[in-house]
Amino acid sequence: MIWKVLIFAIVAYVLFRLFTNDRKKREEKIQNEEAQRVANGNLVRDPICGTYVEKESSISVRDGEHVEHFCSHECRQKYMDKIENQEKIS
Ligand SMILES: [Zn+2]
Repeated sequence: MIWKVLIFAIVAYVLFRLFTNDRKKREEKIQNEEAQRVANGNLVRDPICGTYVEKESSISVRDGEHVEHFCSHECRQKYMDKIENQEKIS
């Protein structure tokens, strides 16, 4: 009965490989798409939580020369608090 175990092991291994390869490819694709959109200027990175947000739908704050984009009001508030604290120190 050892061959049954062997076949099962091979099938499980093949399925495992297919599944992991598929997931890896999908992750790479998502990353590529994200990088593409960042390059196009459609996506901007939230400096607080690090997620990418659509430029149009983000919450932006002008900080002197440059503009920061945030995914939520919560992140914007955190950023504002950080700036305030930095100004207090310096
Ligand atoms: Zn955020």
